[in-house]
Amino acid sequence: MPNGDPSQHMMGHPGAAAVLHRTDFPAFPHEPYSIQRDLMRSLYEALSKGGVGFFESPTGTGKTLCLISACLHWLEDSRAASATAPKAEEGAAVAGGPHMPDWMRGHAERLERDRQAHLLRAQMERLEVLRSARRQRGARPAAGAKTGPGGAPNDADEFILEEVEEGAASEPGASRKRPVLSDSESEEEGLGGPALQAETPEVPSKTQIIFCSRTHSQLSQFVGELRRTRFADSLSLVVLGSRGALCINDAVARLGSPAAVNEACAELQRRPAPRKKVGSGERTGGKGACPYLARSGAHAASLRDMVLAHPIDIEELAKLGQRRAVCPYYAARDALPEADIILAPYSALLLRETRDALGLQLKGNVVVVDEAHNLVDAVNDAHSATVTGRQAAACTAQMERYLAQYRSRLGMQACLALQQLLLVSRAVGRACAARPQGSQTGEAHARSLNAFVLEHGLEGVNIFQLLRYASETRLVQRVAGYWRSCEMENSGPGSNSVPGMEAGKPGGGGGGLGIEAAGQGPLHALLSLLRGLRSADKDGRIIVDPGGADGGSLRFVLVDAGRLFSSIVSEARSVILASGTLSPLGPLLTLFPGVPMDRLHRFSCGHVVGKERLLALALASGSSGTPLDFRFSRRGDPAVLRELGQVLLNVCRVTPGGTIAFFPSHHYMEEAVASWKASGQWTRLEACVPVLLEPRTAAEVDATLVAHAAACAPPPTFGALPSGPPPRRLGCLLLAVVGGRLAEGINFGDALGRAVVMVGLPYPNPADPELRERLRAMDAAAAAASTSLGIQGPALQPPPSRGHYQDLCMKGVNQCIGRAIRHSRDYAAVLLLDPRYAESFTKPLRPPLAKLPAWILPSLEVPQGGFGPAYTRLVRFFKAMQQTEG
Ligand code: SF4
Repeated sequence: MPNGDPSQHMMGHPGAAAVLHRTDFPAFPHEPYSIQRDLMRSLYEALSKGGVGFFESPTGTGKTLCLISACLHWLEDSRAASATAPKAEEGAAVAGGPHMPDWMRGHAERLERDRQAHLLRAQMERLEVLRSARRQRGARPAAGAKTGPGGAPNDADEFILEEVEEGAASEPGASRKRPVLSDSESEEEGLGGPALQAETPEVPSKTQIIFCSRTHSQLSQFVGELRRTRFADSLSLVVLGSRGALCINDAVARLGSPAAVNEACAELQRRPAPRKKVGSGERTGGKGACPYLARSGAHAASLRDMVLAHPIDIEELAKLGQRRAVCPYYAARDALPEADIILAPYSALLLRETRDALGLQLKGNVVVVDEAHNLVDAVNDAHSATVTGRQAAACTAQMERYLAQYRSRLGMQACLALQQLLLVSRAVGRACAARPQGSQTGEAHARSLNAFVLEHGLEGVNIFQLLRYASETRLVQRVAGYWRSCEMENSGPGSNSVPGMEAGKPGGGGGGLGIEAAGQGPLHALLSLLRGLRSADKDGRIIVDPGGADGGSLRFVLVDAGRLFSSIVSEARSVILASGTLSPLGPLLTLFPGVPMDRLHRFSCGHVVGKERLLALALASGSSGTPLDFRFSRRGDPAVLRELGQVLLNVCRVTPGGTIAFFPSHHYMEEAVASWKASGQWTRLEACVPVLLEPRTAAEVDATLVAHAAACAPPPTFGALPSGPPPRRLGCLLLAVVGGRLAEGINFGDALGRAVVMVGLPYPNPADPELRERLRAMDAAAAAASTSLGIQGPALQPPPSRGHYQDLCMKGVNQCIGRAIRHSRDYAAVLLLDPRYAESFTKPLRPPLAKLPAWILPSLEVPQGGFGPAYTRLVRFFKAMQQTEG
């Protein structure tokens, strides 16, 4: 279908039963492959219907471009459709209610539609001026003068906690003061008020696409791909980064840790701005003492429009802010309501507090989560909190010292809040060292939230009220600030002072910020734990690890991520999850309990390579016939390890490039290496190809990958081949770990990864208390649901936790397999070593093979007759592929 009038593609209007249709995606920068076209059509349809979409598209299939083209074509079409057919409910709201006569409501609808169209046009025209200037200039915006940092002195009174209005702290939503660094605080206190607000145009009401990924580099890649489409010139994009990535105030940015930068920025905003010379008089630039924030409104508005006019990534945004000497972090936040596309890291999406602080609205918008295979872990991590015994002791010491200094000057609320927090920190300190009843060992164990609260006498603490008071009075910053200033007094002026805050005395220097050199301070950790304790008893657990480092630890964990993710699902118009592989889907489905089946859409894209370019073999035994049985109880058997060593040697002999063997754990990988060294197999392996091990530390990963690439890739040749000894055999055996640093985000395309070997089935540790509690909670929820439906006993068999446990294992396997085959000319073999794989090769397939990604199944074989025929098949496959390479 041609890209004509979008109304041609519409059946009804999108607000009600409307479904838009489109089959062509002309913004896609080249002729799409059929799998790409299928993906875009399916995604467009899912967006049109609303609900939840799961989209799998292996690496090399152009997933990001497909997401961009389908989403933005849909956005344009739905806007065009809405312009001619507004939602009935909008009209009712505008017209004053459903009882209004039809003719009057119709009139109001038309007026509102015209007003929105006018606002949108005005925004487009405003930005078009910048766009066309940029096109003509073909260069970056002119640089502005960089303003030096400045600030204002302060005194010790800044640490005194205030009283808040009676009752305000106990009524949800009744807070008189705003939370620290809320969006509105930044507008009122930071951006200088009226001058800027007068220049802020009325924002048209529009649907936004919120695209989330895990890292800044993935968001940058999105910007690069968007620029390849025509949407880069017509739609506005805003990328949200952290202050750590965007702060241009050198004195704050050099503090390093995100928590320190956040606190320093907040602290600066709380102070009055220095007076500035304006003409013959002086004036302040607002309340914030950061010179990059207290700019005049015109500068801030100009940067906001530049951000909206052309898509830029985080790095470019930071540079732009630097050139204009305007804080890019707040410029991006200011531009947010006018953006068509918002790029945000997971952390901005997953916590309601963060969304509210940033002003990120989900209602009626589309949320696209990339790399979504990690989403459940990300939700769990975002809501978990850990306090160590040492941190609890530090909290207690800081609050006791603060009370000793200020008690006589504090009001009742402040005293009460500090006493309750002391109660909590002492209880946490005791609990960190507690052993489970009847146990002499220090193994980790779980407690329910209610049990923890009752056991430690915390039932009298109003956690909601305490947290609200702490937020409104900046309790952590003040208590920690006083503590740090005392430390600075003892040790002399520090080096991390921020201009505007005198160092070396209470109220001054880095000490005034209460910043710890690395990471989060102990009081922050304690408050995060308290936030977890607000959860319903069935949603979370406390994991006590008395044997851990730093005096044991206490960790709040979510056991039902779906309950917290449900607010995102219910607010957004659509939630789209995309990844190279989402198989098996089970863990992700836990995020969407209660979403009806007809609102769930799934699309699994084939691979860009033909099935003949991938060979997947399930092997039950090696060349001597010993079963490759890697069940926990068998895998330490020397005969199994010997057989594994021999299989790897045989595979490396015929693989034209890198072989990556994934082990279930570091410990098992090291056990295998020790065994091969003792038996002499290690020497034979190294004689065949270089052997590398996944390092334990992140710092060593690059060096390992460089060594692997050097061993696998052919050296460049210039002119005639030199005479002399034949070149060495190319290839490398890289031993890696499922879920480790090499199992995700690393590209082993072409010669870097011609063979991927899965050693056994990497089931997670069933004794892990966190996992155990999640599985129990899952079964309890299923049992409760069955009971409420009147279903008894057998209907609960097998319990859902069993399938989920297997899903977690296969999720790890599928991530590893996805490291190889990265583009349409690539090829690779995948070897699945364990009888459990081979035994599930039935019709239909059973798990675990049934939980492999769909694109691998056409290439799956289990040769009869043991290792010999399988090895022959492998040799033939590589020969055939090498012939196609010429
Ligand atoms: S306002 Fe911006 S530039 Fe200033 S300290 Fe905060 S993040 Fe940094």
